[in-house]
Amino acid sequence: MARQFFVGGNFKMNGTVSSIKEIVQNLNNAQLDPNTEVVVAPPALYLQLVRESLRKEVGVAAQNVYDKPNGAFTGEISVSQLKDSNIHWAILGHSERRTILAETDDIVASKTKYATENGVSVIWCCGESLEQREAGKTLEVIAAQLAALKKQVGDWSKIVIAYEPIWAIGTGKVASTEQAQEVHASIRDWLKKEVNDKVADETRILYGGSVSEKNCKELSKQKDIDGFLVGGASLKPAFVDIINSKL
Ligand code: PGA
Repeated sequence: MARQFFVGGNFKMNGTVSSIKEIVQNLNNAQLDPNTEVVVAPPALYLQLVRESLRKEVGVAAQNVYDKPNGAFTGEISVSQLKDSNIHWAILGHSERRTILAETDDIVASKTKYATENGVSVIWCCGESLEQREAGKTLEVIAAQLAALKKQVGDWSKIVIAYEPIWAIGTGKVASTEQAQEVHASIRDWLKKEVNDKVADETRILYGGSVSEKNCKELSKQKDIDGFLVGGASLKPAFVDIINSKL
């Protein structure tokens, strides 16, 4: 099955009402490859503003969501609140949340299970640190992150995987096409062995980490790279060029 190319924009904790309106306007006026699925993730405070003003064919994602129904969970946002605001995606397990906010593999897996079972699709992130890569442990680290996910998740159809080497995030140091393809192929291989052929075939695997309008085309030609999760460049007009990598 051909996997639809997917480009996510992760604004992280950036933007103001006015700069976000400008990004939305830019996307609304741009010619976007109709064959690419696009989802943008503004800070929670701006989710509704973006959903109400952005062209409908572009999806909107939260950067996090909690794994409990509504209730006494100060500071969190629930899956039902996202759906109530017409938000149908969440990014989970980003390395910044894993490292700075101490989210474990199991917490990330539990949130992914809860979101997908309740109708919110997930961009699930994984990736190794520089230290782990230099110790030759990249594939082992990612397999462990995937194994924690598999323990809790049964339905993979609402999950997009983003491989984001931590050393490449926000550093300008993009993984080489070979480095990225190698990990993407190993993730697909893992899905084949540990889940099944269909999930391995159909799951989109995105690359993230210093993706720019300059390096996106080359990366997009790799067999197992099905799109990107873009941080810094998603705040700039060049995001459109990344969305259109396949044109
Ligand atoms: P970057 O971030 O594109 O700024 O490197 C990617 C990400 O963290 O999703």
